[in-house]
Order: sequence, then C-alpha cells, then structure tokens
Amino acid sequence: MVHDNQLEKSNKLLRIRSVHGRNISVVREVYRRENVPCQSPLCLSDCQNSTGDGGLGLLPADVNHYLIPDCQVAREFLEVLENPVVTGIIFLQTVVHSVQHEGSKRLYNRLRNLVKDKRKASIIFHNEFQKYAYCEREEGETLCDWQTRSTYAAAEWYFHHLATQKPIIMVTLNKQAIEKYGNKTLNVFVLSLEEYLRKFWQSHIPEVMDLYESLTASLETKVKEKDYKGYLPLDILESGVKSGRFVQGHINVNRNNAGQEAFVRQKRSTSSVEDDRDILIHGMPARNRAVHGDLVVVEVLPRSEWRGRSSVIKESQDGQGEGDEEDGATDENVMPTGRVVGILQRNWREYVASFASNEQVSEKGGKVLVIPWDYRIPKIRISTRQVEKLKDQRIVVRIDSWEIDSQYPNGHFVKTLGPIEDLEAEISAILLENTIHVSAFSEAQVLSM
Ligand SMILES: [Zn+2]
Repeated sequence: MVHDNQLEKSNKLLRIRSVHGRNISVVREVYRRENVPCQSPLCLSDCQNSTGDGGLGLLPADVNHYLIPDCQVAREFLEVLENPVVTGIIFLQTVVHSVQHEGSKRLYNRLRNLVKDKRKASIIFHNEFQKYAYCEREEGETLCDWQTRSTYAAAEWYFHHLATQKPIIMVTLNKQAIEKYGNKTLNVFVLSLEEYLRKFWQSHIPEVMDLYESLTASLETKVKEKDYKGYLPLDILESGVKSGRFVQGHINVNRNNAGQEAFVRQKRSTSSVEDDRDILIHGMPARNRAVHGDLVVVEVLPRSEWRGRSSVIKESQDGQGEGDEEDGATDENVMPTGRVVGILQRNWREYVASFASNEQVSEKGGKVLVIPWDYRIPKIRISTRQVEKLKDQRIVVRIDSWEIDSQYPNGHFVKTLGPIEDLEAEISAILLENTIHVSAFSEAQVLSM
C-alpha cells in the first residue's frame, strides 16, 4: 500500500544509563505513519487491515468504555488492572516504556503477560509511531508532563479514530491532569483511579477498592521515607537563627533508635528562649539528610506536632531531675520537635563499615550499600567493583554527598582494614572509630589499651 508508506522521519534523543552508571545519549530515527493498528473491531478506517490475524489482541466491542491508564497508574497500580473483570485496557507505548524504564523488569513482564492474556482483551498501542497521536516533547517540558500530555493526546486520538463510538477513560493519580484535560473533550474522561474504581467497579468487585487502598497506603510510606526537602539559603538560615526563628546545633542521633530519632541541643544564646530542652528530630524526612555530628539549623514545629521520644531508650534514664515545671504539658514525654532546614557544617569523617550480608547487597549500576559500624551513621552507597573481594572485610569509607533524591548518602571506598573478626582488623576499626591514628601506636601500646 502506497498510502501506508507515508512515513515521517524524526529523530528521538534517548538517554540511556549504561551498566557502569554512565549516561549515554543515543539518537534513534523514528518513523511515524498514519496507519498504526488501533486493534478495535469498531474501527471504520483501513488501519484495521494491517492487523490481519497476526496474533495481535483485539479490544472488545461490547465494553462500556476503553480504559487508558497513565504511566504512574501502570507502574504503581498494575495489580488493580490485573483484575480479570477489568477488560479493554489500552496500554500506550509511552506507558509501556515508563513501566520498563522507570519501573522494573518484573513489572514489565507482568504487563506483557496481562496483554497476552486473551481474556483481558487488552492491547499495547504504539502511540509514538502514530503520526497524529504523537506529541513532540517540548523544550523544558518535564518527562512526567510530556507523558501525561501524550497519554491524553492518544486518548483523544482513539476517540476520534473510532468515530466517537466508544467513550475513552484515562485514569491518573495526577490532579493537575484532571483539571487540565478533564473537561476538554466530551466522552474523553480523565478520572482519578480512585474515582474510576468507585464509579465502575466497587459494586461488582468490592475487593478492588480494598486493594487500591492497601496499595495506596504502602506507596505513601515509601514516598514519605524519601521525602527530603531542599535546604534554605545560608543568609536565611543565619538571620533565622539570629531572630530566634530557627535553632542551630549539632545533631545527635539516638544510637538505640537511629532510623527514627535524633536530637539537637539548643544553644542558649539569648534569654528570649524560654525552653532549652533538646529538640527532637523524628524520622528521616525531618532529619533531611543530616548525618550524626553535623552542625544543623532546625525549625521548631508548631506545638501541636510535638512528639515524645520513643520508649526504647527509657531504660537509659534521662532524668535531669525535672518535675512539673514543664509548661503544663500533660504528656511528660512530649518535647519540642523540629525539622532540619539547613546544614552549616558537615562533620563527615572516615567510617568503618562492612557490606550487608550477601542477600542484602543491592547492586544498582555498580553501586553497593555498606553498613557503618557506628549505628548512628546511615547506610552509605558506594561504587566498587570489588564486592566479591571485599565482602568479608572491615572497610573504611567516606561520604561524598547526599543528593535530595537519594535515600542514602553516596560515598567511596577508602581502604580495607582486613578480614572481619580478625583481631588486628577489629583493633584498627576501634581505633579509627575513636579517631586515633593507628600508625601512631606501637603494638605494645595497642595491646595495653
Ligand atoms: Zn483503526
């Protein structure tokens, strides 16, 4: 078909991360055409012809609507879409790519299996090859915005391509997308996944709502853990400390509850501070990438958000002899609680560490997590190709940076001290952790310690 050969060539820039973690840019030629099989029996144009019987799944004709999940829904809620009752799902190429590159191999395989399952009557549509469905990514447009725009454009394309016979529902978690596109075209709906499930499925399959809710809850905890904020500029920090709006001090992580609790001792500079108790920093988001020992600036939260320290450490008797003079708080454990808004000085040093036990070693482009000997220090992600050689060694690492989007700080391997449980290696480790220079001691001195 000559008609079919009206190809339009364009270049697509792909950024690929190599096995060694380097970013490589690849230009790929993309040919777009007018006829990309829509795989619907409702099709009135000739794009259907090219479907043949090549094993491509066909969308059902008798469903109430076709469903187009956006990238995030496909990545985070595929399990909901896997329910046998939900059929007629169109997975866009843009969405499949997102699952493949931003999700995981396992998830991608699940999506492929879903599409292969004839009973689901769901398909993959190559929207980026369809001349009229495709959206060019604009200068400065975020990946997420482009994906959303592409998804909506494909939803509209389908609706018109099928001569408005079938309503299309795009489901998303993105409120802005709903506002922006929700009222654009009659019968091309943009709904939140929750609203969609409530409207269409809750009465037939109530368990789908439970699944949605439990997935949401587990995602929320995941997101919260990584929810770090940017630091305020230095001049704001300094004037804030001066005015008493912020408090500055060294952060001290609770050894017995290192993942949750840290404290900042208030420096009582001015008399205006009416409360000189330590400030509790509860949780990693509030600690905001501060590491034990760093000089930080803290914003004290409103009193309604103050909390008590955990009971884990109660045995360690924190009694400073305080009685009832504590400003009338009924719960004696409640203390000023804050969050780190800036760091004035990093006090990173060399840390003794070891690799997580075999099954916990997570490798991501040559990066490996190591566990510092000092519990107060978070796990550190280092780059090394010597995992095999070093995995039973006491090693020394340094932290280099802690990016806002990274759950753990990045560091590098400095040296090995020797095998774990080897006397000399362990002595070196203790000395280093106490910041004593090993070379300065003779063997006799070491043994007498
Ligand atoms: Zn068609």
